[in-house]
Amino acid sequence: MPESAPETADNLYWNRSKVTPEQRCQRNGHRGCVIWLTGLSAAGKSTISTELERELFNLGLQVYVLDGDNIRHGLCSDLGFSHEDRTENIRRVGEVSRLMADAGIICITAFISPYRSDRDLVRQVNREKQFVEVYVNAPLNVCEQRDPKGLYLKARAKKITEFTGISAPYEAPLQPEVELRTDQVTPAESVAKIIEYLRSHGQIPTAK
Ligand code: ADP
Repeated sequence: MPESAPETADNLYWNRSKVTPEQRCQRNGHRGCVIWLTGLSAAGKSTISTELERELFNLGLQVYVLDGDNIRHGLCSDLGFSHEDRTENIRRVGEVSRLMADAGIICITAFISPYRSDRDLVRQVNREKQFVEVYVNAPLNVCEQRDPKGLYLKARAKKITEFTGISAPYEAPLQPEVELRTDQVTPAESVAKIIEYLRSHGQIPTAK
């Protein structure tokens, strides 16, 4: 945060909308929420997020994916992969996802987000029950075998530094709302499990 931030913050106000969350909910047929996918590189976050988005869109719901690689091309193009930069990356994405949820959208995010405290911070900025943490869990050796972008190969050859699982830590969620063992279930089964969670917790309508 810039040094001038606290002084500036004194002069900032939160502008209130004349559209209530209930009105947005009535129009969309569901509330906004954040479905936060976390896990190692190649665990399946992007694959599952795009399939889930398609499925929810087909059900007539308002849905959008924020994907790690895409965001690093724009909003976070100034950030690297140090602990500090990863934390700032997740802080920004967390804020954006919250704004999208407030706008009434089901916001799916696909970020490694390796630090528990960073993910907990995103949980805190969201309203209760608005944040659904999904642990996309595949063992490191499976991720390394998949290696769709050849990144593990580069990390082992030390051509990439600070690579999660190899030369940087991954802190697994302790109590995720959903856990997907992607070495054991197909992407379609993972999507079905998330949708089942959303339905049974009233996040999306059961009839749709
Ligand atoms: P991430 O976004 O977590 O880095 P990706 O979705 O980009 O992961 O890559 C995961 C790779 O693993 C893809 O090539 C995908 O097709 C493959 N894969 C194989 N089995 C599964 C599975 N059961 N669930 C998700 N992805 C799988």
